[in-house]
Amino acid sequence: MQNVKKREARVSMQTAFCLCLQDHIKIENGNNKTPQPWKARMKASSASSLLILWSMFFLCVPVQQAGALQARVFPSKIQPGDAFMVMVSGLKSATGPTALLNKEPLSFSICGDGCYVAIAAVDLNSRPRTHRIVLRAGKQKRVLRLRVLKGGFKTIHLTLPEEKVSPGEEDIERIEREADLLKSIWEVASERLWEGDFVLPLENPFSTPFGTKRIINKEAVSIHQGLDMQGEEGEGVKASNRGRVVITEELFFGGNTVVVDHGQGIFTVYMHLSGFNVSPGDLVEKNDLIGYVGSTGRLSGPHLHFGVKVAGINANPVALTRLKL
Ligand SMILES: [Zn+2]
Repeated sequence: MQNVKKREARVSMQTAFCLCLQDHIKIENGNNKTPQPWKARMKASSASSLLILWSMFFLCVPVQQAGALQARVFPSKIQPGDAFMVMVSGLKSATGPTALLNKEPLSFSICGDGCYVAIAAVDLNSRPRTHRIVLRAGKQKRVLRLRVLKGGFKTIHLTLPEEKVSPGEEDIERIEREADLLKSIWEVASERLWEGDFVLPLENPFSTPFGTKRIINKEAVSIHQGLDMQGEEGEGVKASNRGRVVITEELFFGGNTVVVDHGQGIFTVYMHLSGFNVSPGDLVEKNDLIGYVGSTGRLSGPHLHFGVKVAGINANPVALTRLKL
């Protein structure tokens, strides 16, 4: 019984306005499962750095071998939830580079002769710290640094009728079913379909930015894990990049929703649409019309909720569209 109550409370946090991606639940409970081995590593690295300095003094071993290989992270300073890219050039090896971030491999694809690019993101719960990305290419190794700054997200307070924040038992079953459906989609990393920069699906002002914390009726907390863009009912919504349509479904929170798979674990999500212009399986090009702005699902008025998934992480859509790919 207690479990049921707890579940209801957790779900109630997601209602009202634009409540779309089911991963909200983890964050709202402060259930930060991100591993934090960095303190331990910092202590170990202080001791080991003395040893390395001593070794270098006597042995004069070069830290990195000279070569044409170049690797960089862009941007090198980001906020929690931001997407970033790792670019490698001058690679002579027949095989592409490999790199790990938080023990997860980055997914590289070719961007020219000897050029490889990977898109990744850090979780919205990330604490400020510097990540080391160890990149290996052939016999060469580079250590790249990615600094995550403190997030400066806004908090807003909302007062809503109780019936709007507490779904019924049937709704809860539906919400869980849809959460499972979306989870199964994010787990698939298909071949790269994206080409060049990602673009915003509308050329309109933003209404609720990514990362906004909403305190509803003084207790429930919801973190907005997408970007809300203003729009008129019926306005055309464009695909952010080339990709394949995975679903066109009516979801409890998101209303009419399109998910486009761009390959390599990158997805874009378009919610609250009044109608669809695509079907599952369709290959869409960047800027193709995929649907129309509407007010379906749980929200306060017509707008577009634009979400981005990168390797299972809810990423800030603005950060993704800023990458020069
Ligand atoms: Zn939204």
